[in-house]
Amino acid sequence: MNHWDAIWLNVNLATLDGQSGTDPYGSVEDGAVAMLDGRIAWVGPRAALPAGWRAQVEHDCRGGWLTPGLIDCHTHLVYAGSRAAEFEQRLQGVSYEEIARAGGGILSTVRATRAAGERDLLRQSSARLAALLAEGVTTVEIKSGYGLDTATESRILGVARQLAAACAVEVKTTFLGAHALPPEYAGHADDYIDLVCEEMLPAIHAAGLADAVDAFCEGIGFSPQQTARVFERARSLGLPVKLHADQLSDLGGAALAAQHGALSADHLEYSSQASVDAMARAGTVAVLLPGAYYFLRETRLPPVAALCAALVPMALATDCNPGTSPCTSLLLMMNMACTLFRLTPAEALAGVTLHAARALGLQDQAGRIAPGLRADLALWEIERPAELAYAFGANPCVGRYHADTAVGTPA
Ligand SMILES: [Zn+2]
Repeated sequence: MNHWDAIWLNVNLATLDGQSGTDPYGSVEDGAVAMLDGRIAWVGPRAALPAGWRAQVEHDCRGGWLTPGLIDCHTHLVYAGSRAAEFEQRLQGVSYEEIARAGGGILSTVRATRAAGERDLLRQSSARLAALLAEGVTTVEIKSGYGLDTATESRILGVARQLAAACAVEVKTTFLGAHALPPEYAGHADDYIDLVCEEMLPAIHAAGLADAVDAFCEGIGFSPQQTARVFERARSLGLPVKLHADQLSDLGGAALAAQHGALSADHLEYSSQASVDAMARAGTVAVLLPGAYYFLRETRLPPVAALCAALVPMALATDCNPGTSPCTSLLLMMNMACTLFRLTPAEALAGVTLHAARALGLQDQAGRIAPGLRADLALWEIERPAELAYAFGANPCVGRYHADTAVGTPA
């Protein structure tokens, strides 16, 4: 009884399932994928389809390639305003300190976001999300962190939830109250961490607005001790944690994250071998963010060879944010991961599917084309999967299918 809701035919598959040394894509040429009730029901070579199959919808993929829907596992997508004027000033020689003293930098985004109503936030964020979806993204993580008070942090996460309902995309929300010190707490970082742990986190958790908790552990962010307090509170509420770690200096952030069983440690330019080893032991995913590396003109590379040697899975994400990575292209991140960080195109594709799913705790739901997983798929007009990381500025996505849209619709 093989009666399916939909089937994809005349297609090559990069399943990212059962990868091997000779074929890191898990390829199936002239394959077929069938869906029932939003889940992948069958996958394999077309010649092996069971006799007598039927499907309500047949997608003719015209010889293209089907991959798992892409997963952007680290974004700050919901915010108001732009920092383009600041970008322009900096290129005219104005220093970051002068801009910050004049009220610029992250606090200008906090001001704009606090002032924005829900509808305005939704409108500005929808445009950024639409750009991601046009490139085959079916799951996106969205952090708060530009409110820095209970009401605005809740509003940001509420908008993230609304985007999921409005845009046929899976959204995982992350509370990032410990992103920066709000101006009203200047000089009182420990008091602000009290607020995060005792008021903001419990309120946001009670409202069901956060799927995970993040922090910015850095000289210009929060100390390892303050970060640990946030993590302990999150874990006491049963929420998984992740961390902006070792981006500008080595405070041992990735190791701290691993000690708390973090889903991921992100950035990692300054991570030590000890931190890499701790991540390997804990099963913490390394999320590399080449957009921020590029935009900040960083020269210190993340320890890619050490991560590979320790078998730490490497995910990639846009880090979409107004200050350090105003980027809405996961394909561009794949290209940059290859050109700047020397990943292979297959590692880059695994970084936005297989490993990005693990970074969100979704490894049993998404990130591969395999029976039982969500039927989140992207269809590409390409000759071989390496083209996804090779070209930049092009978008060969010709179909995006999200499990909740029943039979899927072309992009
Ligand atoms: Zn970030």
